[in-house]
Amino acid sequence: MAQIRKKQYKTIVTIGEWAYKPELLWEKVVKGQPDECWTWLGSKSTAANLFGAKKNGVKQMTQANRLIYADTTGEDPGAFEIYHSCNNRFCTNPAHFLTRPNRFKRDTE
Ligand SMILES: [Zn+2]
Repeated sequence: MAQIRKKQYKTIVTIGEWAYKPELLWEKVVKGQPDECWTWLGSKSTAANLFGAKKNGVKQMTQANRLIYADTTGEDPGAFEIYHSCNNRFCTNPAHFLTRPNRFKRDTE
């Protein structure tokens, strides 16, 4: 008898003010070569990849790349904005991520 079961993601990681499921996050990333841009299979806005997570206990959609950054480095990007050395805002390769304080955003774009 075939068993049909909804996939369960048990692991929840908390970094800074965020709680998220890393298995679910990485399932949406198509990892390419280390120097390539990696594709996001999840939701997107016109400006960013989106992923559902809890911020201070409240579920919301957030920028997936912030959680990829957090999951890769173990640090909450907090007040920092993540941008890309490849200029591809939908790229999910952490090797292409750069951070800068949010306040510089308007000065440089
Ligand atoms: Zn890239």
